[in-house]
Amino acid sequence: MKQKLASFMYGRYGADELSKGILIVYLLLAVVMLFIPNTIARTVLYLISFALCIYMFFRMFSRNIPKRTAENQKYLRVRRKIKEWFLLHRNKWKYRKTHVYRKCPYCKVQIRLPKVKGEHKCACPKCGDSFDISIK
Ligand SMILES: [Zn+2]
Repeated sequence: MKQKLASFMYGRYGADELSKGILIVYLLLAVVMLFIPNTIARTVLYLISFALCIYMFFRMFSRNIPKRTAENQKYLRVRRKIKEWFLLHRNKWKYRKTHVYRKCPYCKVQIRLPKVKGEHKCACPKCGDSFDISIK
């Protein structure tokens, strides 16, 4: 049985981070469905979770490995951006009393600066350009 499964999965894509992400969304939808009394909304969520389940298995059994890898890379890029956004806002809140965050007008990167009132000249650590900032 184990060898049959191994020979079936040979040359197929298998599980990856996107599959895990889809599985987590599927499980979250299953939990949400338990608390929704509206039949129509529950049916819609059921159909969405069913489609997610089919998509997850389609990806796992797919033989088009380059395309599945590209999808996974795209998912990882989006997930990293979301994580960075949450980390930035968590740190903005955490250091709100001692630091301010400003965006570099040239390269748009967020820079954390000590909270010292007044007009300052700031050099971007990424692109090296300098610009004026005002901290109140
Ligand atoms: Zn910059």
